[in-house]
Amino acid sequence: MKITEIIKNKKLSLSFEVFPPKTESAFDSIKSATEEIAALSPSFMSVTYGAGGGTSKYTLSIAENIEKSYGVPTLAHLTCVSSTRATVRERIEDMKAAGIKNVMALRGDIPEGMENMPREYKHAVELVRELRGSGADFCIGGACYPEVHPESGSKDDDLKYLRMKVDAGCDFLTTQMFFDNELFYDFLDAASGCGINVPIIPGVMPITKANQVERAIKLSGSYMPRRFISLVDRFGNDPVAMMQAGIAYATDQIIDLFACGITNVHVYSMNNPRVARAILNNLSDVLGK
Ligand code: FAD
Repeated sequence: MKITEIIKNKKLSLSFEVFPPKTESAFDSIKSATEEIAALSPSFMSVTYGAGGGTSKYTLSIAENIEKSYGVPTLAHLTCVSSTRATVRERIEDMKAAGIKNVMALRGDIPEGMENMPREYKHAVELVRELRGSGADFCIGGACYPEVHPESGSKDDDLKYLRMKVDAGCDFLTTQMFFDNELFYDFLDAASGCGINVPIIPGVMPITKANQVERAIKLSGSYMPRRFISLVDRFGNDPVAMMQAGIAYATDQIIDLFACGITNVHVYSMNNPRVARAILNNLSDVLGK
């Protein structure tokens, strides 16, 4: 099923993100974690893709397994920054052969030291065009940044390029994580003011370990509200309390998003069935499960 059809549904739902193994030896344990999450029947599951291409084959095998064995629709990510046109075309053919319906078209982070090297793909918009022209009826997603992409010169530039990505064929967008919902609501207004009319799915990252904070800031540059910083300061040294407090914070963000009219929230569940299950349990009545 296409993601756009799923999110048209007025029923409140959660989708989860998982990442594929980097090595063959980790395959079985990661596959079984993704299966545990799939067994919770989320609205869909996204499977990330290593920008270096190393985990590409696992992205497809994990996505195929979730879809075929659990009937959960999947969104396979694809990046282009370190790839040649020929490799991307091969990956697209692999996706078609695997029956993938939903693709997240991403540039990927530029590997360190390669900033000034010649690249066949400069921006995700080129991958969106390639997918659109591939002859397959893919439902295409793109990434967006309520707090502006770290490389962007300005909010206006970021929105201008986002609009180009949508005009090139994105059917929906998913946001980078944020910890202050007001930033997301402001972004929705700004995007709509720029003529971006596709659905925008908010992405929420449950921070359940203090050491995830630094990585989250590095990845997303997200603003951390005082309420969130106090929580990490108070519970960061107690892993069990931090897990519970982080899940409660994410649950609170999701309830607010639902209350404000969002119908599907994407949870960066990081292959952690325990986190996915706890959030679903917290929301069982809200979700009618
Ligand atoms: P782009 O849309 O190309 O934007 C990158 C930058 O270039 C922005 O600053 C933008 O304003 C600018 N820009 C865009 N178009 C133009 C243009 N035509 N001219 C000039 N400037 C332009 N990474 C992975 O490696 N694997 C994943 O699976 C993955 N999944 C993700 C899922 C989500 C929901 C998000 C939000 C991010 C994900 N990422 C993933 C991270 C992502 O690859 C990085 O954030 C990357 O730096 C940007 O990718 P993009 O597709 O947003 O790039």
